[in-house]
Amino acid sequence: MYEQDCIFCKIVNEEIPSIKIYETENIYGFMDIFPLNDGHCLFIPKHHSVTMDETSDVALSEILIAIKKVAKKLNIKNYNILQNNGSIAHQQVMHTHFHLIPKDDTHGLQIGWEPKPSVNQEEIAKLINSKD
Ligand code: 5GP
Ligand code: ZN
Repeated sequence: MYEQDCIFCKIVNEEIPSIKIYETENIYGFMDIFPLNDGHCLFIPKHHSVTMDETSDVALSEILIAIKKVAKKLNIKNYNILQNNGSIAHQQVMHTHFHLIPKDDTHGLQIGWEPKPSVNQEEIAKLINSKD
């Protein structure tokens, strides 16, 4: 539930200050300390989990609903939702979080998109579709 050395657990617990924008019984939303653009904010489950697959379904559902509400409130039409899992995938804080990052001509998320040649999508789909 609460991890001693986790800064986001400390934020939920108000041991570290944050600019709160959203809260339910299960999730917490706050402004990112190093925003890529105006309105860059973060949404986290209150319970500690490192990656998205460890996060409760109820928290995950509430986070998407929260992002939808905040995007409407900010009246942004261009934005990215970023969710990094694992350090190779650029996760720096090891408590599951979703970024909402407004995008405009000058600021926001920069994406490098480099397709990998020769991936066997059929084989991977078979694995995903196979019975547990
Ligand atoms: P990641 O690379 O793990 O997906 O992103 C972590 C995010 O957390 C970064 O955007 C970083 O600015 C933000 N962050 C790290 N420490 C703090 C903090 O103490 N307070 C707030 N509000 N944001 C933080
Ligand atoms: Zn945590």
